[in-house]
Amino acid sequence: MSQSDKNYYEILEVESDVSSDELKSAYRKLARKYHPDIAGEAGVEKFKEIIEAYETLSDETKRKRYDILRGIFKYNKSTTDRTTQKEAQKAYRQAKNQEEIIKEANKNKQTEQKQQSSSQDFSNILNEFLDGFKSQTKTKKETHKSINGDNITTDVVITMLEAINGVSKTVNILSTQECSNCHGRKFANGYTCPVCDGTGTVSQHKKITVKIPANVKPNSKIRIPSEGNLGLYGGKNGDLYLNVVIENNSNFKYEDLNVLFTIPITPPEAVLGTTINVPTTNGNVLMKVMPKTSSGQKYRLAGQGLTRDGKTGDMIVTVNIEVPNNLSDKEIELYKQLRDFAKERV
Ligand SMILES: [Zn+2]
Repeated sequence: MSQSDKNYYEILEVESDVSSDELKSAYRKLARKYHPDIAGEAGVEKFKEIIEAYETLSDETKRKRYDILRGIFKYNKSTTDRTTQKEAQKAYRQAKNQEEIIKEANKNKQTEQKQQSSSQDFSNILNEFLDGFKSQTKTKKETHKSINGDNITTDVVITMLEAINGVSKTVNILSTQECSNCHGRKFANGYTCPVCDGTGTVSQHKKITVKIPANVKPNSKIRIPSEGNLGLYGGKNGDLYLNVVIENNSNFKYEDLNVLFTIPITPPEAVLGTTINVPTTNGNVLMKVMPKTSSGQKYRLAGQGLTRDGKTGDMIVTVNIEVPNNLSDKEIELYKQLRDFAKERV
């Protein structure tokens, strides 16, 4: 398992926006709990994981790098990133909740109206009157000119990788549907339909899964026939149009088939060199940062870019030396010593 596969935030039982103070106290609590002196042999692996997680997240630059790499992992199809799955599940749950809230509201409306209706249910005369009214409306309906449903347009956001490879996406649209209680007849059991308030239609969220073809161009429109608003009086349903938006994440950019991104390194890493686990479209690649590397130095990972029409680009990684804000007194002291040594060298 590579560094970016592990969820350090989960290991330390914190949110991804945790402050450094909160992080420190979460780490101390867990380190005490799983310390081999307390938890014994069984705690050793967990304890190591906690230390590894804290070493990365407590260093501002390393944390930033970790976040960037994990962000990019989300775009890497070959990776089964637990956080991504979790986020997807969360989004699904939210959508589901929304659906249930709407259902619940409709149900409440129905009960409310039913109660009102039953109090009105006092004479046959009224029913006869309503029946008469119903048939009147029916005649009226038959003479109505057909109305076509409106088209619906919505954005669907995909990554560059998805644009090249093609992808299936589920969109959640709000469209006019036939009322399932009165089946569009506006009346149910002789009364104005309580679910649709006698309109015959309801606005409903609907999930539609769409196959986006490979090599799709930005802002392409995909037409899904008849998935727009409901047509009335025999009119045709509208269509659904998806506007394809290709995301350009700020952490990495695309230049033709090359994938570019900038990764932060710490001053000691810049001087001494390090290896960084870089996720590419083909999986993980260990990138060696040479000793005495300057900010802005570019590394080219040949053949690790995007592939389109049989051609493959490179991945170009720019390293950027970043100085953490949260240096300890001891670190500052060591930097002072370094400065003094440097003076001697000159
Ligand atoms: Zn209805």
